[in-house]
Amino acid sequence: MSEPVTPLVKGLFITLRYLFQKKVTVQYPEQKRTYPERFRGRHQLTRHADGSERCVGCELCAQACPSGAIRVVAAENDPDHPHSPGERYGATYEVNMIRCIFCGFCQEACPTGAVVLTPFNELAEYRRDPLTYEKPRLLVPRKEEAR
Ligand code: SF4
Ligand code: SF4
Repeated sequence: MSEPVTPLVKGLFITLRYLFQKKVTVQYPEQKRTYPERFRGRHQLTRHADGSERCVGCELCAQACPSGAIRVVAAENDPDHPHSPGERYGATYEVNMIRCIFCGFCQEACPTGAVVLTPFNELAEYRRDPLTYEKPRLLVPRKEEAR
């Protein structure tokens, strides 16, 4: 066999060999992968069992974030209608998903377990604006709101 033909035959043989092996390509979005248990995706602000917000607006998550993706503005709780059990709550909470590198430092830094990274990872958008997630989008609804 002449020199230029040998690599071609080798290449075809490799193709033939892989043709009968188990496919690794996932037909997304019809098929979805199962991610590891500790996979870090979209953020969520959680609530206590009584429905109050866990976030007390301490800004530790924003301080821990290496990419400056979090903005928190705290406010004093109204004693008659508190949002959280603390004196303050996170009045504004934003995560810029374009900046976020999903390192999980915010979750680790949070003293109340308010911010968690969920396995949800379908975050693609056509425009930049919707990629700044604001508090209403991040906060889990109360049980009665979720119905
Ligand atoms: S996961 Fe990391 S980069 Fe993303 S907001 Fe949290 S600390 Fe910042
Ligand atoms: S999410 Fe946690 S760390 Fe961030 S401001 Fe709220 S309580 Fe503090």
